[in-house]
Amino acid sequence: MMRLPWFGFHSPKTILEAAKILAAEGPQAMLIAGGTDLLPNMKRRHQTPATLVSLRQIEALKKIANGSGTTLGAGLKLNEVVASAKVREEYAGLWQAAAQVATVHLRNMGTLGGNLCLDTRCNYYNQNYEWRKAIDFCLKKDGEICWVATASKRCVATSSTDCAPALMALGAAVRLVSAQGERDVALADLYRNDGIDYLTRRPDEILTEVKLPAAEGWKSSYWKLRRRGSFDFPVLGVAAAVKTSRDGTVENARIALGAVSSRPFLTKGGELLIGRKLTDDAIAEAGVKVASAAKPMDNTDLDLYWRKDVVPAFVGYALREIRGDDMRAARVRIARHDLKEMQ
Ligand SMILES: Cc1cc2nc3c(=O)[nH]c(=O)nc-3n(C[C@H](O)[C@H](O)[C@H](O)COP(=O)(O)OP(=O)(O)OC[C@H]3O[C@@H](n4cnc5c(N)ncnc54)[C@H](O)[C@@H]3O)c2cc1C
Ligand code: SF4
Repeated sequence: MMRLPWFGFHSPKTILEAAKILAAEGPQAMLIAGGTDLLPNMKRRHQTPATLVSLRQIEALKKIANGSGTTLGAGLKLNEVVASAKVREEYAGLWQAAAQVATVHLRNMGTLGGNLCLDTRCNYYNQNYEWRKAIDFCLKKDGEICWVATASKRCVATSSTDCAPALMALGAAVRLVSAQGERDVALADLYRNDGIDYLTRRPDEILTEVKLPAAEGWKSSYWKLRRRGSFDFPVLGVAAAVKTSRDGTVENARIALGAVSSRPFLTKGGELLIGRKLTDDAIAEAGVKVASAAKPMDNTDLDLYWRKDVVPAFVGYALREIRGDDMRAARVRIARHDLKEMQ
């Protein structure tokens, strides 16, 4: 049985109190929300914080506020995000992403903020301590070489958050709060393409809320490739959001990719749709452009060349769903992992 290492524990009731504890403890302290990612990682000795600062008692992090847009507290459990009628109706891409994270039990513990700050993943890293020791560890933790790209000085572990690409396509920003003050950053700027230092968030900052702009005129969609339809981390995530005029002409479009890099990112491709209707041709052109930005590595599930090959198909699923096509059969095929049908 893998046991947790010893650690100190704080459970503040306010954001300010939590920020002060983080500032006082320094980088040896880590935040814990649902713990569904951090606790297994601690058991495997990926992270061994001397102190954990729990966010679970902070009610201010669990709110949904509606104004010109919608603000989601980072402490909302993913099941609470999924239960929101507003999210389901106006931010369908986020709803679809959150509803496909892990299992219902994990979504009952796992939070939105934890999902956005999820550690990067790799076949050579998500192993127990003894397994990693047997290969002399790797760059990301305790070692000196990257087993995926042996000449690389950079870890290329994969970002596996489902909600981040969906929220990026929706144009979300996040608020980061520390004892020194607060700042808002576009979600796309929260990430770095570095498997170790994958967030631009400082260790003393708490991600407190996610701000979504008003959804007027926008429709969105998220499509996830994974081995098991029941639950699995994404090995490809495609999120799209499109704003159309009344006659169906595209006024604006954003497409984001997940699980094909150390960070989720907004890609080129959406601009090819602007001024056009969502025709099959326009969708196919955008799909090819988006696929050129996907650079999956051989460090997670399924063949990396195939994962890149299916990007245009997944962009097509997302855009056709936004167009109004009935995509239920395609969703069922993908959940069943009918690979032939996905080509
Ligand atoms: C079997 C299994 C399957 C999974 N499948 C998926 C999947 O399909 N898709 C997916 O996206 N995830 C998946 N996960 C990962 C995880 O369950 C979710 O991403 C979850 O949302 C993480 O949230 P949490 O609150 O539990 O995070 P925690 O484990 O508490 O924290 C994760 C990280 O975020 C930091 N953190 C947490 N909250 C904040 C905050 N407010 N501000 C700053 N930093 C913060 C923590 O310090 C830690 O580094 C899976 C996990 C398991 C065990
Ligand atoms: S990508 Fe390389 S350095 Fe990063 S976790 Fe995998 S093997 Fe380790």
